[in-house]
Order: sequence, then C-alpha cells, then structure tokens
Amino acid sequence: MSIAFLDDSYVPLEEARISPLDRGFLFGDGIYEVIPSYGGKMVGFKPHMHRMRQGLEAIGIELNWSDQKWSELCNQLIQKNGAGNLGIYLHVSRGADTSRFHAFPDGVEPTVFAFTFEIASSPVADKAKVKPFRVSTAEDLRWQRCHIKSTALLGNVLHFQYSYERGHSETLLYNGDNQLTEASACNVFVVKDGSVATPPLDHQKLAGITRFMLLDILSQDGSIPVQERVVTMDEVFDADEVWITSSSKEIAPVVEIDGKPVANGEIGDLWLAAQTLFSANKYNY
Ligand code: PLP
Repeated sequence: MSIAFLDDSYVPLEEARISPLDRGFLFGDGIYEVIPSYGGKMVGFKPHMHRMRQGLEAIGIELNWSDQKWSELCNQLIQKNGAGNLGIYLHVSRGADTSRFHAFPDGVEPTVFAFTFEIASSPVADKAKVKPFRVSTAEDLRWQRCHIKSTALLGNVLHFQYSYERGHSETLLYNGDNQLTEASACNVFVVKDGSVATPPLDHQKLAGITRFMLLDILSQDGSIPVQERVVTMDEVFDADEVWITSSSKEIAPVVEIDGKPVANGEIGDLWLAAQTLFSANKYNY
C-alpha cells in the first residue's frame, strides 16, 4: 500500500481524507507539481520548486516551506514507497474553509498533500524502445492563465479525453491564430531541416520543466540549433519531427498527427540525439 503525506502526517493513501469544504476540492483552488524519481534520484527538483513557488505566489497562497523541507518530504516518500521509479505528486490547496464562498478566506491553513505513483523506467535514447506517439489536434479551449500549474485541470482533461476517444495519446493544441500552444499535458517541439523550435512562453502555455531543461541542454551542447518562436500548425504538419515533452515522458517522438504520418512516419535522428543529451544531463538540475 502506498504511503501519502497529508496535513503533517504520513498515512496509507487509501486512508487519506480531506474536508469536502477544501477549496482544492470545491474550486480547484491550488497548485501542484509532479517530480520524477528513478532509484531514489529526483530529476529537476530545483526548477520544480521554483515553479511551485511562482504558482503559489501567482494565486496568493502563503506557504513558507523551504526547499529543504520539500526535499525532506520527497525523500521520506521515496523511502517509504520503495525508491523504484516514482512520480512524486505535490499539491497545495488554499485549505478547508467553513463555507463555500469564492473570496479567499482569512486564517485558513493551506492543505499540503503528497503521494507517489509508479512511473515507467527512466526513458532511454533508443528508437526500438521508445513509445511512438499518435496524437490528435484541437483548438485550445482552456483558460487564459495556462502558465499557472493549477489543480483546476478540467480544460486539460477534456482535451486529453478527445484524443483518448480516438485511440490517440495526446492532443496538440492551437490558438485562434492557428499557432501551436502546447498539448494537454506536454509541451511541443518541432524539427525542420535540422533546426528545433518550440513556442515561446506566455499565458497560453505551462513553463514545462522538461522544456526548460531540454532548451538549456541543447543550447549548452550547441550541436543542434534551437529557437523559441511562434510555430504555426502548418509548420507542425510539415515538420520533419515533432516531439512532446513532460517530466514522465522526457522527450517523446510523435509519428502521426490526426491520422497522417509526421514526415515518413519514422522516429527521427534528432529525437535520438536530443534524448541522448537529455539522458546524459538530466540529473544536473
Ligand atoms: N504542459 C502542461 C499543460 C502540463 O500539464 C505539463 C505537465 O504536466 C507540461 C506541459 C509539461 O511540464 P513538465 O515538463 O514540467 O512535466
């Protein structure tokens, strides 16, 4: 049975209970993070903490936990749950109020909840082993604050379900100007003529930690040109390679979009080069 953390104690996940008046439950009023950990080693702990703090500040939740305190919590959960391949889910809601009232309550302690779940083993740079993704596309119908890693994920859930019902594994999203934003739970990269591009950060996208690490790793290495710039959906359909990135997938190659192959429908060589570099550097963050 997996062990979770809720309100300052460690409890079996099945026994963890929150109040129905918790604003996370009623309003999706909270922030979350998912940090991957392989054999007890976390990937990207520091940038995950940085994004969590930015999210809490953006929605005005005051929780003065140091990185050290978060790190101890994560390490305790890793220890208690067997140090295999784990996703560590961290969640802070505005807390349990005494009534259902939209305005932020005074004097209510945030609820801190965390648990782990098993994830696939550390992704490897091997065309024969990676899962090739088949995805759908749809107009991005979420809210205008997608840069906040909010627990209110209904918009993302509906976009994900759309692809799921079509036998696909993600939905690439575009705005009213036919520009790529991101996917329902991933950022997106395109490759054309040896160059990599991903849309610039703004309110339409989450600042993915994998995106940040990949951009940093590629620019430090310097062998593959990479740009943050507007990417149109025409470019997506015309790309040599398309990748989706997230903490659990790292860099996943997309081989088919809306039933049409990406280029020749094979996993590309730049994917292999990028995932090789990512695998070699991912514990440096
Ligand atoms: N975009 C959205 C909407 C997401 O939900 C996620 C991950 O959950 C990402 C991008 C990728 O972010 P990260 O690389 O930090 O996992």
